[in-house]
Amino acid sequence: MLRLESVRKTYGRGTVVLRDVDLAVPAHTVTTLIGASGSGKSTLLRCANLLEEIDDGAIFLDGAEITDPRIDADSVRRRIGVVFQAYNLFPHMTVLDNITLAPRRVHGVPRAEAEARARELLERLGLGGRAGEYPDRLSGGQQQRVAIVRALAGRPRLLLLDEITAALDPELVGEVLGVVRDLKEEGMTMVIATHEMGFAREVADQVCFLDGGVVVERGTPEQVFGDPQHDRTRQFLRRII
Ligand code: ATP
Ligand code: MG
Repeated sequence: MLRLESVRKTYGRGTVVLRDVDLAVPAHTVTTLIGASGSGKSTLLRCANLLEEIDDGAIFLDGAEITDPRIDADSVRRRIGVVFQAYNLFPHMTVLDNITLAPRRVHGVPRAEAEARARELLERLGLGGRAGEYPDRLSGGQQQRVAIVRALAGRPRLLLLDEITAALDPELVGEVLGVVRDLKEEGMTMVIATHEMGFAREVADQVCFLDGGVVVERGTPEQVFGDPQHDRTRQFLRRII
């Protein structure tokens, strides 16, 4: 579904942030990105969503090269849902309006249809009845679930999640991770950057360890966590677990 080939990304004058990154994410699988702060996880996700331009290499979505300069970036982004650490909900808009804004304005979905879809998703994520609330009336975990609903509202083929629990109080982390587990059960294809190692291991079909912008190791959770092949992976896991 998503494929990165020799992706190279630099910032400013030559700070290399991604170096020859190869990654294949098959449909209906979950890939977790692990690695120290600054290793390039967020940058990889931002490149996949065309929020950042790559310097070299290519990225493919459903077989088509999305880094081809002739491609319509908006049509690519419509197929990809993103959720970031900070939920970025609009404070002056209700939950329902936050969710339906993009489908209505960007995708041209009629209001009734957008709202029906939003209510169905809210119900599924345990937020039925909260549609009319403003974000500041919700807990952090609930707000993050609304952000996930918003990402799902456009019926994306692929979901990119970047540290979606990092800003949450520990007792709220579980409910958000539960939603991700449910999405996996439903067959959603996801790439997840996370510092939650237990979760990274449990939910993944594939784990990808980044260090200094390089994919040092990639494999099943059993391989990467249980039997890491590289010193750098072992050092990272020793430090963090
Ligand atoms: P974290 O775990 O802290 O979220 P990360 O693995 O997501 O880290 P990135 O945010 O991808 O790491 O950052 C990778 C490197 O790129 C870092 O060295 C960072 O300082 C640099 N970087 C990120 N964004 C920019 C930017 N807009 N301009 C310049 N450098 C940047
Ligand atoms: Mg990051």
